[in-house]
Amino acid sequence: MNVKKYTVTGENLFGLEEFDTGDTGGLNSSDDVKKMMKDNIVEIAKLQDRLYAEGKTGLLIIFQAMDAAGKDSAIKHVMSGVNPQGVEVVSFKQPSTEELSHDYLWRAAKALPPRGKIAIFNRSYYEDVLVVKVHKLYENMNLPDRCKGKNIIEKRYAQIRNFEDYLWENGIVTVKFFLHLSRETQLKRFLERIDNKDKNWKFSDADVRERKYWDDYQEAYRSAIEATASKNNPWYVIPADKKWYTRAVISNVLLSVMKKLNPRYPIVTKEQEEALAESKKKLENPE
Ligand code: AMP
Ligand code: MG
Repeated sequence: MNVKKYTVTGENLFGLEEFDTGDTGGLNSSDDVKKMMKDNIVEIAKLQDRLYAEGKTGLLIIFQAMDAAGKDSAIKHVMSGVNPQGVEVVSFKQPSTEELSHDYLWRAAKALPPRGKIAIFNRSYYEDVLVVKVHKLYENMNLPDRCKGKNIIEKRYAQIRNFEDYLWENGIVTVKFFLHLSRETQLKRFLERIDNKDKNWKFSDADVRERKYWDDYQEAYRSAIEATASKNNPWYVIPADKKWYTRAVISNVLLSVMKKLNPRYPIVTKEQEEALAESKKKLENPE
């Protein structure tokens, strides 16, 4: 699968309408990707093991999307093979009082992956240029007036770009997924959440309220992606109307990113080899 057509690196102006939410890359059903997904999951797990052993690079994976785009299930499926010791999933909800008393990157900085590990952000600091922009939440924030001007969102784009560049230059690689859903599919999934008792817990009144701002959110996403996509820290715009295809593309992107990182097991030196042989001898022939 060629993931290039889903990759946004910020060289050009960016429009979401060029990305088809219903794209399935010419495939017909989940059966067509079953084998590939299975192989990818095994490969990702192998690379994660090496990433952990090498302990040089941290991998930050961000998932952003409208509600019901399939973030949770994508995370569950794609990461199903990895060693839980090397991965942390963090969900970003409405900020707490403590979080609001800090700068907006604070809670994200606390959750960044150390070298060798993967952190998955289910939503992220991008909410601070999405929901915060759509509802102008900054107007009521306890900030000095000089920080609340109309260009606060533009400034945040620059801060986020700088933050991700800083991470890149310090060995933390950021991969950003936008699960691109159609309005119709969102409606269908909301109705399923209401009709299916086991899914009721996933639905909230707020979902109906936010849906009214669909166009504003699309524009907020478009402009945030355009402003923060770069060669080192690209965005991946993933078709989200068919969950099986969403997961397949995500697993391919992750695999290609991790292959590029090319983590290696630490090389064993001659001295270490000798020490290992010595240990083996002692274990086999205790005094
Ligand atoms: P969910 O992911 O469906 O559990 O919903 C989490 C909610 O928290 C979403 O409606 C987000 O928009 C909201 N949220 C996350 N981060 C922020 C933030 N920085 N400011 C305001 N709302 C946020
Ligand atoms: Mg939700």
